[in-house]
Amino acid sequence: MNKLIMNKFKIPKEVTETISELQKNNFEAFVVGGCVRDLMTNREPKDWDMTTNAKPEEIQKIFPDSFYENDFGTVGVKVDPFLENGKEDREHDVIEVTTYRIETTYSDHRRPDEIQFAETLKEDLSRRDFTMNALALSFAKNGEIKLTDLFDGKKDIKKKIIKAVGDADTRFNEDALRMMRAIRFASRLGFEIEEKTFQAIQKNHDLITHVSIERIKDEFSKIVMSDHPKHGIELLQQTGLLKYIVPELETGIGVEQNLHHIYTVWEHNLRALENCPSKKLSVRLAALFHDLGKPQAKVFRKDRFTFYNHEHISAYMVKKILKRLKFSKKIIDKTTLLVKNHMFYYSVGEVTESAVRRIIKKVGLENMRDLIDLRIGDRLGSGVPKAKPYKLRHFEYLVEKVSTDPVSVKMLKLNGDIMIKEMSFKAGPKIGAILEILLAEIIDDPEKNTLEYLSERAESLRDENVDQLKNLAKKYIKEKQKVDKQKIKEKHWVK
Ligand code: ATP
Ligand code: MG
Repeated sequence: MNKLIMNKFKIPKEVTETISELQKNNFEAFVVGGCVRDLMTNREPKDWDMTTNAKPEEIQKIFPDSFYENDFGTVGVKVDPFLENGKEDREHDVIEVTTYRIETTYSDHRRPDEIQFAETLKEDLSRRDFTMNALALSFAKNGEIKLTDLFDGKKDIKKKIIKAVGDADTRFNEDALRMMRAIRFASRLGFEIEEKTFQAIQKNHDLITHVSIERIKDEFSKIVMSDHPKHGIELLQQTGLLKYIVPELETGIGVEQNLHHIYTVWEHNLRALENCPSKKLSVRLAALFHDLGKPQAKVFRKDRFTFYNHEHISAYMVKKILKRLKFSKKIIDKTTLLVKNHMFYYSVGEVTESAVRRIIKKVGLENMRDLIDLRIGDRLGSGVPKAKPYKLRHFEYLVEKVSTDPVSVKMLKLNGDIMIKEMSFKAGPKIGAILEILLAEIIDDPEKNTLEYLSERAESLRDENVDQLKNLAKKYIKEKQKVDKQKIKEKHWVK
């Protein structure tokens, strides 16, 4: 066994003790599956699974403080907390001990019709999906670690390939989810999919329709969150799976942009995700989808292509896609907001603080960090060499600088209460309309945020009619945004 691995991540004593307890009772017991793969690829396992020839009742007898709440032969054995992020809903951490199993027929291409307990480790390992997931570890009395590797998993890990255990075609026919798992592992580890396994996914891609949308969403999210997401999305496309998940992404394939944009829309979307520094799912989804609307918005004007309003088309599409994939409302709202606003304009010396305040008012201060992360991915993904160009750093500085300036009515020195109690305004919509106008003025010039100035302005608007006031506020904000936007068009009209 590789010494380095054993030194780096010590196998927790709760794990070795559980194994030796089973062995003491004359059963076979192995650490198996994902955690062994993680050790072999130098990653820290997040959970430890075991397999044994003991039947669930026998396991429970050995570990009185255990529970068996399913039909798959998996017994949860409670041990003292040993993982940094132990399972939150349990009093203790839990080690899952599963009786050797063999799965029978799979008539729905997803779940075995029946689960049978098996007699040998070999049978159990042969039902596992990939060679790297079919490794087992056991411990001798002297503490020595022994690796059982019946399908050449170690060699495949060395070769950096994902390979099905047994006949790939059969294995994907049994359970179509394995196709997405293969790609998820490839994008997590930066591995390739072995040729026959790859061809079997290509051949069986349409079986993905048998997998629930929730499972597809989970696997897709893991690909997006992985270290090599571009590789993962490319594999989804090459195998034919992507068109069942997000066909909209494929419309960007081959869609050229202008000269300074060296990549096609498809390539740029993937590169924006690959370079997005955020670890948040919503921000990474926004990076992947931010330019989805470009193929539709593309128009040839004079001597070049324009993509006016593509951010709105993208946002509309993103909302639909994420709803279809059953993402949570929180993720949908956040991702859509980021995509819709990814075109904010910044240029040192040109962007005024009031323009930055207007962006903050629109997007929310709490979302600015994420919006900037999206933009970093966008910039780097278009082939711009510097991670944080000076311009973007300057923008961050401006955001920080104006972050305590008023960007919402709540931050005005004048409020409805004062207007009613001290200025004898009548409670009603007029107060809100007046405050909106005052806010628009203050965003332009925060110096004016004094009770004295605002009371005076409120006084001067007292006799206006409510609708007129509302229109005035809207007009004011629109005009200012038009000026900001005009600048984007002048400078970035093809971006
Ligand atoms: P992760 O790091 O995401 O937990 P994992 O490989 O541990 O990856 P689990 O879903 O925890 O995945 O499954 C544990 C083990 O069970 C796998 O390593 C594999 O041996 C086996 N397994 C899981 N799902 C399947 C499947 N759909 N088909 C065959 N074997 C599977
Ligand atoms: Mg696991």
